[in-house]
Amino acid sequence: MNYHIETKCIQEGYQPKNGEPRVLPIVQSTTYKYDSSEHVGRLFDLAEEGFFYTRLANPTVDCVEKKIAALEGGIGAMCTSSGQAASLIAVINICNAGDHMIAAGTIYGGTINLFAVTLKKLGIEVTFVDPDAPVEAIKKEIRENTKLIFAETIANPALVIVDIEKLASIAHESGIPLIIDNTFATPMNCRPIEFGADIVVHSTSKYMDGHAVALGGVIVDSGNFNWDNGKFPGLSTPDDSYHGMVYTSDCGKAAFIVKARVQLMRDLGAAPAPNNAFLLNLGLETLHLRMERHCSNAQKVAEYLENHEKIAWVNYPGLKSNKYYELAKKYLPKGSCGVISYGVKGGRDVAVKLMDSLKLAAIVVHVADARTSILHPASTTHRQLSDQQLMECGIGPDLIRMSIGIEHVEDIIADLEQGLAQL
Ligand SMILES: *Cc1c(COP(=O)(O)O)cnc(C)c1O
Repeated sequence: MNYHIETKCIQEGYQPKNGEPRVLPIVQSTTYKYDSSEHVGRLFDLAEEGFFYTRLANPTVDCVEKKIAALEGGIGAMCTSSGQAASLIAVINICNAGDHMIAAGTIYGGTINLFAVTLKKLGIEVTFVDPDAPVEAIKKEIRENTKLIFAETIANPALVIVDIEKLASIAHESGIPLIIDNTFATPMNCRPIEFGADIVVHSTSKYMDGHAVALGGVIVDSGNFNWDNGKFPGLSTPDDSYHGMVYTSDCGKAAFIVKARVQLMRDLGAAPAPNNAFLLNLGLETLHLRMERHCSNAQKVAEYLENHEKIAWVNYPGLKSNKYYELAKKYLPKGSCGVISYGVKGGRDVAVKLMDSLKLAAIVVHVADARTSILHPASTTHRQLSDQQLMECGIGPDLIRMSIGIEHVEDIIADLEQGLAQL
């Protein structure tokens, strides 16, 4: 369907036939009945499409995957139980023990731990780079065994905007893919595949769900990367655990996403619940409306804070004073996201006092849902990181992260006004 993306938010994925439910049904079943074992055999051989076990695929989840693939402009998608599972599976689908990868040092703290600690234990080494570094400096980090570059469109919470085209060209020159975590931008504001990203991952727990009701993740395959270039034997040589299937020749453009499902989802089991996929689908139906309001509210709050005498600095890509204003205009012309960060004059203690005095904005370890929330990363989400790692993530001890909701903006600003007046 060649609809506008707003229409796709609502219409893609589930296509009911005559007399079927209008709304995506929740298929709360782990198993599926067939009339012959021969038919089930064909499903296992991937000779025919169909469902046989919900760990691998489920009709409700399938519709949501098709919708998200359409929104991102990919050829296929696989939902996971969380964003962490999506990042893990996307990486180990192409990295083995002994391999190396490059990641932007600005990415989400949970992903930094996954890469720096857990993947290291599995024998995969990661080099964190400054995504703003010149092309040559990043290229220097690429080794013979480097298998991918990973970055976030808008870093959580540093709000660093990455130059996707720059990273894609560095990756492609070396015959490796670029994986972009597009959680904060959502496909409403940026579609990384259009700028050269090969694989897109999301924590759907954030704006896509939008109501803070269901954890989830998704991997989207652009279908554009040539995996048969000698660097990815896991995709281009027979998989003994799947009776000798060669993903590149047997699945063509869908090699990556088929392998992620039939091999890694089969083995790791980080599958989403059908009920969560249903909730995610409801969230996606209003994603276009919500993102618009998140962005316009955040812009007004950022401008208000920037002009406030008790505020030391404000970081929001929509502000002209922002380092990433020009990059944001290119990659995020409709707006970036609803998350802003700022520092209060007086540092850490004053920041905590402001947070405790707010009434509408709640202290919550979550961002990117309908309700305005506020958090102090250095003492919460990022407390596992060393001071050095914190600085590399762009998070100072005074940094307050505020996720602007879709309430009336005057109420959000009035809440800040009364809080700041108490300092
Ligand atoms: C929250 C988040 C994740 C992790 O997702 P979960 O759904 O919490 O597992 C990954 N990347 C980014 C950018 C996030 O904001």
